[in-house]
Amino acid sequence: MISTVSPPAKPQSYKTNVEIDWCPGCGDFGILNALVLALQELKIPNENVVLTGGIGCSSKIPHYVNVNTLHTLHGRSLVQAQAVKMANPRLEVISASGDGDGLGIGSAHFVAAGRRNVDLTYILFDNGVYGLTKGQASPTLPYGEMPKSIETENIKFPVNPLFLGLASGFTFVSRSYSYNIKHLKETLIRAMKHRGLSLVDVMQPCVTYNNINTKEFYDPRLYDIEKEGWNPVANNESEYKQKVPQAVLKSLEWGDRIPMGVFMDYQTETYDEKLQRLVPDYGKKNYVMDPIDSSGKPLNDVTDLMNSFS
Ligand code: SF4
Repeated sequence: MISTVSPPAKPQSYKTNVEIDWCPGCGDFGILNALVLALQELKIPNENVVLTGGIGCSSKIPHYVNVNTLHTLHGRSLVQAQAVKMANPRLEVISASGDGDGLGIGSAHFVAAGRRNVDLTYILFDNGVYGLTKGQASPTLPYGEMPKSIETENIKFPVNPLFLGLASGFTFVSRSYSYNIKHLKETLIRAMKHRGLSLVDVMQPCVTYNNINTKEFYDPRLYDIEKEGWNPVANNESEYKQKVPQAVLKSLEWGDRIPMGVFMDYQTETYDEKLQRLVPDYGKKNYVMDPIDSSGKPLNDVTDLMNSFS
C-alpha cells in the first residue's frame, strides 16, 4: 500500500456520480458502503487503489467506486487483479465478483489464485442466484432449494466458497454479511491489511429473485465464530495445518446457525516474495512506472527482465 498524497477525508469521496442501477434493497449497497468506509478508514488515496469486477450485478461495483477500475470479462475479475498487482505491487488491489461469476465460469481461476497467494483482496457477492440474468441457480444455491426465479428445485450440490478457499490456499478466509456494515467494514479492513490472498465471502441477499436466503433468513442465524472463541490466526505452518481442518468443519455449518467471521489468517510467503527468489530484479524496480516514448516503447531496456521470465 502506498500513500503519496493526502487521502480524501470523506467516504463520499470514494464514490462516483454514476447512477446505481441495483434494485432497491439489494445487498450490494451494503458492500459498496462498507468498502468505501474501509478505504477511508485505511486512508488509502483513491489513485492507489485498483478495483476489478467480472460480469453480473455485483461486478458493476467498479463503476460506483472512485478509484482505478476494470470491468472485465465473465469470471476473470481475479485474473485481472492478479496481473495488476504483479505489475505494480505498490497498489492496493481489490477484486469483486458474484458467486456465479467467481465460482461458476471463474472457478478455475479461483483455485489457481489460491495456489499463488498474490497479495490482494477478493470480495465474493454471494446470493445463490445469477441476478443479472433473471435469477438462475448459481453455484452456491443450497441443494433442494427453489427460489421463486426457478421452476424446479436445485438438484446440484452447492460449492462452499470458504471450504474451496481453504482447500485452494487462500491465506485469509472470511465471511460477512451485507446488512451488517460494521462487521463487513472491519472484515474488509482486516482482509486488506493481510499480506497475501484474502477471501471475503459476503452473504448478500438478492431481493428480486431469491426469496429464501433473505434478510429475515440470515438475521437470526448468522453468528460470529470469533465471539464464540475461534482464533483464526495461524502463526506457523504447523499451526496452519492443525487449524485448516477445524476451519473447514466450521465452514460446513449451515442451518439454524450460520457462522461468519474470520476462519483463517495465515501469514506466509506471497507470490511476490516467491517471484523475488526466481527473478532478482522483481519488485526492486517498478517497470510500469518507467518512461515510454511516444510510440509506447520503454526508454529503459527491459530485455533482461523479459528473458528472465522465459
Ligand atoms: Fe441485487 Fe438481485 Fe437486483 Fe441484482 S437482481 S441488483 S443481485 S436484487
